[in-house]
Amino acid sequence: MKRIGIFGGSFNPIHLGHIALAQAVLRQCALDEVWLMVSPQNPLKRNDADLLDDHLRLEMAQKALEGVEGVKACDYEFRLPKPSYTWNTLQHLSKDYPDYQFSLLIGGDNWAHFQRWRNWQEIMEHHDIIVYPRDSYPGTIDVPLFDVSSTEIRQRVRAGESIEGMVPKAIVPLVKKFY
Ligand code: ATP
Repeated sequence: MKRIGIFGGSFNPIHLGHIALAQAVLRQCALDEVWLMVSPQNPLKRNDADLLDDHLRLEMAQKALEGVEGVKACDYEFRLPKPSYTWNTLQHLSKDYPDYQFSLLIGGDNWAHFQRWRNWQEIMEHHDIIVYPRDSYPGTIDVPLFDVSSTEIRQRVRAGESIEGMVPKAIVPLVKKFY
């Protein structure tokens, strides 16, 4: 049975912190693959002007992950009912890929209020949860933290500042064009 780690986020845009984390978890947790679930725009939050189009975020993530063994970006949630709730996504995945076992990657910040998530008990009952340290919240695994955020990248692009070393070189032109 293949073990897949599910790493959700808006990836607006994807950056080296996301990629380093996915690679570290892949190795440390002996997963076969990590799937980055690019979350689609939530129709209830349409006024989030900062959020780039779903397909453009996916395009950057896929390009950024070319040559990154075992880590893939997917549009799986684009086809599910919105807003996408983690439990719903996990149920669909388990049905579509009956031979795979899905683990959930979340940050320590989210883990701290996990009991507010929809169907959190069902999630815990059926899936392993891998918690990575985030801000000052500890995790259950020890991974190197990369001090970069998508917000900072968007701000730097708007201010005409360099984003070298924050996103893979292959997507620097796209990030500059889109934001
Ligand atoms: P934003 O600045 O737009 O809020 P972000 O950089 O936090 O974005 P998300 O798309 O929200 O990126 O990231 C998805 C997940 O990746 C989040 O749940 C977050 O915990 C994690 N993450 C974000 N930045 C890092 C980083 N530098 N290192 C490790 N994990 C990160």
